Amino acid sequence: MPELYDTHAHFGAEDDVDAIFARAAEVGVSHILAIGGDDELNRSALRTSGRVALGFDRDQTSLAAEACAALPGLVAANRARVAAIGEIGLDAHYTPETLPAQCSLFAQQLALADELALPVVVHTREADDATLGVLDEVPWRHGDRLRGVIHSYTGSTRFAGRLLDRGFCVSFSGIVTFKRSDEVRASARYVPADRLLVETDSPFLAPEPLRGRRCEPAFVVHTARRIAEERGVPFEALAALTTANALAMFG
Ligand SMILES: [Zn+2]
Repeated sequence: MPELYDTHAHFGAEDDVDAIFARAAEVGVSHILAIGGDDELNRSALRTSGRVALGFDRDQTSLAAEACAALPGLVAANRARVAAIGEIGLDAHYTPETLPAQCSLFAQQLALADELALPVVVHTREADDATLGVLDEVPWRHGDRLRGVIHSYTGSTRFAGRLLDRGFCVSFSGIVTFKRSDEVRASARYVPADRLLVETDSPFLAPEPLRGRRCEPAFVVHTARRIAEERGVPFEALAALTTANALAMFG
């Protein structure tokens, strides 16, 4: 059974994390990166037994000062398990009015990731130019380039090209299986093999044929199968390369 790495899963206080991990392992999902984004998500990610990303997402701008002050301590206290800062980023679809504050919160956490030499897990929606603007403004002091992933990618091949130019990986969720997602599938064919990742973004975005159910990491198999089909490669090969890419970035 090919091994898969779900690079983006959220957990809540009510989730039976052990049962979710066990169901994932049964279908070959051997690695799961638990993703934070606010106080509760960060705490829940730390309740899992695996690797985690910790950070404060674009809906946390009202807490920006406290969040940024708290994050270094939280990371330091869990350093052995922290694989990335995230999820962080920008969303002009739901909350365009807070975009300037989102940019500031995003930039501060990019700078922290740079300082700690950690990769970043980035959300971006309807904010292509703003995202590139912030990425280009942060003065990288450590290494030549920040590593990271744009998660649950829904953008064009053109935007993907700009992110690839900046060294980013691109991760696809169940959206790639949805009927109307032709542009997303074009991007999933476009991203080079060494920059491609898969994820669920659970509990959201269950892929076809499970759409509408509460998503969990085991479902990433369906997403990976669809991407393999789109790229015309065997499922086993797609699983092997995305898992290797994820291990290289997140351990
Ligand atoms: Zn997410």
